[in-house]
Amino acid sequence: MKDNRIYVTKPKLPPLEEFIPSLEKIWENRILTNGGPFHQQFEEELAAHLGVPYVSLFSNGTLALMTALQALRVTGEVITTPYTFVATSNALLWNGLKPVFADVDPQTLNLSPKAIEAAITPETTAILPVHCYGQPCDVEAIQKIADDYNLNVIYDAAHAFGVNTPKGSVLNYGDLSILSLHATKVFNTFEGGAIVCKDIKTKTRIDRLKNFGFVDETTVVTHGINGKMNEFSAALGLLQLKYIDSMIEARQTVDALYREKLAGIPGISCITGDGEGRHNYSYFPILVGPEYGIDRDALYELLSENGIHARRYFHPLVSSFPMYRNLPSAREDNLQVALKAASEVLCLPIYPDLETTTISTITDIIARGSTAA
Ligand SMILES: *Cc1c(COP(=O)(O)O)cnc(C)c1O
Repeated sequence: MKDNRIYVTKPKLPPLEEFIPSLEKIWENRILTNGGPFHQQFEEELAAHLGVPYVSLFSNGTLALMTALQALRVTGEVITTPYTFVATSNALLWNGLKPVFADVDPQTLNLSPKAIEAAITPETTAILPVHCYGQPCDVEAIQKIADDYNLNVIYDAAHAFGVNTPKGSVLNYGDLSILSLHATKVFNTFEGGAIVCKDIKTKTRIDRLKNFGFVDETTVVTHGINGKMNEFSAALGLLQLKYIDSMIEARQTVDALYREKLAGIPGISCITGDGEGRHNYSYFPILVGPEYGIDRDALYELLSENGIHARRYFHPLVSSFPMYRNLPSAREDNLQVALKAASEVLCLPIYPDLETTTISTITDIIARGSTAA
């Protein structure tokens, strides 16, 4: 049955015929995983493409996050954002760590450095910020806090593939950065993830941790997990690298068209700025403010009735889920900016081949909604 609904994202794949030779090679080699030739080559080419020293590939972003916390031997309390996908703080619980939620900045919706500093206790050992929607965090201010209090910084950069500040890849900030290469992300290997690190010693530790702790055929030195990326995903990733720049360009065109058509609708604002550096146009979040005719949920329904499936990323806040809501830092008065954003945000469909006519349909519905009250 054909599904005519428009979803928030629709992965674009490279031409199938270009993938066939890689598949033939895998069938011929019969090396399917365990750090095979595609895995090796993809790690190298991905690091070069991103402009980072080292990449360790993973089978998904969540395992990469969990392993990054192990790699740095993080203990005690970790300051993080409630305005994210639930995997961010779930990775803390899987490591027996205590999440401490801090509020976000109203402009970027990323962790506020001031709120981070206020949340530090003697138990704090690390900060886990998210570059939400691919917008860089205030990386300089966060590094200063980390230096002042001797904390590790692990960036959940699941949204930040290919994002640069004027000083280069945003993935080079902090101790480690984590990418997700899941089907819904800007760059995908169906399922996949990666840790970006700065020195070979750390990469070696990460690579052991993702392979059960093995250092050779018979020696296991640590309690590793199985986080390895398989050869199929690595081969697909290598091929996708050829197309990613043009796909980001196509997203930029969609982004620009949305901005043009939404400008002037009272109560609607775009949050991802056109700041310095290089953006990846991974999401198109709008805020539905009080001056708009109807509230965010009513607009979500209105779009849905017209076959447009926008997403309320990130609502509800992670801190409101049962495993977090009793934490002192989950109190509503501690997270007011995040709460407001969670009630106003709507992510509109954005992907490389989203048609101009569909964009117009979406923005026309939004324009009509402003007078629907
Ligand atoms: C997608 C996502 C993850 C999890 O990545 P997976 O590859 O799906 O495991 C983690 N954090 C954020 C912010 C994400 O958006």
